[in-house]
Amino acid sequence: MAYDYDDENIFAKILRGEIPNNTVMETEHSLAFHDINPQAPVHVLVVPKGRYVCYDHFALEASDAEIIDFTRTVGQVCKALGVQADAAGDGCRLIANAGVHGVQEVPHLHVHVLGGRMLGRMLA
Ligand code: IMP
Repeated sequence: MAYDYDDENIFAKILRGEIPNNTVMETEHSLAFHDINPQAPVHVLVVPKGRYVCYDHFALEASDAEIIDFTRTVGQVCKALGVQADAAGDGCRLIANAGVHGVQEVPHLHVHVLGGRMLGRMLA
């Protein structure tokens, strides 16, 4: 079944410049901005600019250029905000909620980058 993208979702409006955002980083195919309701000292959302509902939609249908750009942007955001998991950073958690069971609120793919404190154990 085809993915059904809603052009009126809030991240589509952000990408069209209709709603302001607190941008962290912008590339050709991706935008990273601070979450409006942060759950940790670092809480950034990274979205592809293309019309993708969720991770599997993006992974299966996006171009290689979009996938590379998005993947690298997530990594660059981690480094830029000091939450990369290397000797200089304390690490973070990447989350991509999808669909009903994933309790996805906004139906445009976004990866949450959460960090800046010790996070709780999270399996479900
Ligand atoms: P989801 O449950 O994974 O879909 O998460 C959606 C996220 O979008 C939540 O963490 C919200 O706080 C965040 N959010 C909703 N509207 C805005 C906005 O206008 N700017 C930034 N973040 C938003």
